[in-house]
Amino acid sequence: MSQSVAVIGAGVAATSVIHWLKILRPLDRIVQFSSENLAPAASYKSTAVAALRGTRTGLSALGDELCEHWEFSDQFYQQGKHAGVVESVLETWLSDDKELRRFAHVPEASASLLPARLQPRRVVREKCWMIDPQVFLASFDRSHEQHSSLVTGLQRTPQNWLVKTQQGEWEFTKVILCTGVWQRWLKGLVPADELATLVPSQGSYFEWRGFSFEEKSFALSFQGVNLHYRHDIQTLQLGATTIKNNDSFSPAHDALAEIRKTFEEHCELNLDFSQAQIQTGIRSILKSRRPYAGQLAPGLFALNGLYKNGWISAWPLAKKLCSTFE
Ligand SMILES: Cc1cc2nc3c(=O)[nH]c(=O)nc-3n(C[C@H](O)[C@H](O)[C@H](O)COP(=O)(O)OP(=O)(O)OC[C@H]3O[C@@H](n4cnc5c(N)ncnc54)[C@H](O)[C@@H]3O)c2cc1C
Repeated sequence: MSQSVAVIGAGVAATSVIHWLKILRPLDRIVQFSSENLAPAASYKSTAVAALRGTRTGLSALGDELCEHWEFSDQFYQQGKHAGVVESVLETWLSDDKELRRFAHVPEASASLLPARLQPRRVVREKCWMIDPQVFLASFDRSHEQHSSLVTGLQRTPQNWLVKTQQGEWEFTKVILCTGVWQRWLKGLVPADELATLVPSQGSYFEWRGFSFEEKSFALSFQGVNLHYRHDIQTLQLGATTIKNNDSFSPAHDALAEIRKTFEEHCELNLDFSQAQIQTGIRSILKSRRPYAGQLAPGLFALNGLYKNGWISAWPLAKKLCSTFE
């Protein structure tokens, strides 16, 4: 039976949900709500590299889940040949014992991508996917109703859900919340105990546009600092900070200064920081650090808590969620 479905959000969670709804439930009427002005999506301020970063199975539930999501998304990116997605390598420079143990199973590289100032004890390389969020998310089918409006209320009617915005009210059989960190604004309006522990985590990074460099895109990581070069869009990014319980768009300059210091200590590359823009996005993290995809109440669903793994976890979780719909 065809249904009317409201998807709230326009980031990677909402895009993946709509993608699978269109494939698995082609007769449903989909209406999308989002508000980039009032609730900026983390997805568009994301350094967006999908990689395992040394995660392997058999050590934790979170690690097992991430490996499963990686298997799915790796194939998804491979087969999809999507605009804005480039297959690349992530090189990690390992210095301390904990890192060496974590990456023990990852193949060693014969030489490092960039000259190191502080020689790492080991250099390893993994496959990764580098994503340009704007181009990639815009490449999905948009032939459904879309409203640029903040959802200010959600109310259960005898059969359905009433979605309220400043532009009007609409009734839907199902509502799927892909609201990232802004889910907290709906607290009290919807039963969402599963998302009660959700908190913000501010991420800021340096970005150089029009940066012409190597011939290929690459991702480099050392001491938790990531340097990403996207040859296709000639952009270099260095970051990002992780500041829990902070949902401000005012970047934490102390933490950025630490990133710059670590970069200058480890890497020989000279960068002109006066030319860098600072970008900030707000991630959403649940106490378990695991994402949530499920039913909050009859007809009300959510995909959230993607934290630092949105580009790996959104696709498999959205497919699983949409497959449960009757
Ligand atoms: C600096 C940074 C670097 C990152 N790097 C990586 C990385 O390398 N690899 C990786 O996998 N992940 C990374 N992440 C994490 C990843 O970007 C996120 O997990 C992912 O983008 C979250 O997507 P989302 O769709 O859940 O939320 P969002 O992208 O935040 O989208 C939420 C959407 O909900 C809408 N919304 C919310 N409330 C309402 C409302 N009441 N009414 C209407 N609309 C509403 C918003 O407008 C928005 O469109 C990074 C994040 C940041 C900030």
